Amino acid sequence: MTQCAICKKRDVSPEYKPFCSKRCADIDLGRWFNGNYAIPTNEVAPTVDPANSADVVPYPRED
Ligand SMILES: [Zn+2]
Repeated sequence: MTQCAICKKRDVSPEYKPFCSKRCADIDLGRWFNGNYAIPTNEVAPTVDPANSADVVPYPRED
């Protein structure tokens, strides 16, 4: 039998392959997300393209 890719203690469930359970599948998913967001940035503000955003009004209208 194949062991769970996360805990390696239980056998892989056909339903959650290659994990033993949803719990371990979620752990793997969490790792993936954490790794993705762990990339260091200098808190770069999200850039907004005025041409593509109706919410941004560079020059407030006064009429
Ligand atoms: Zn597991």
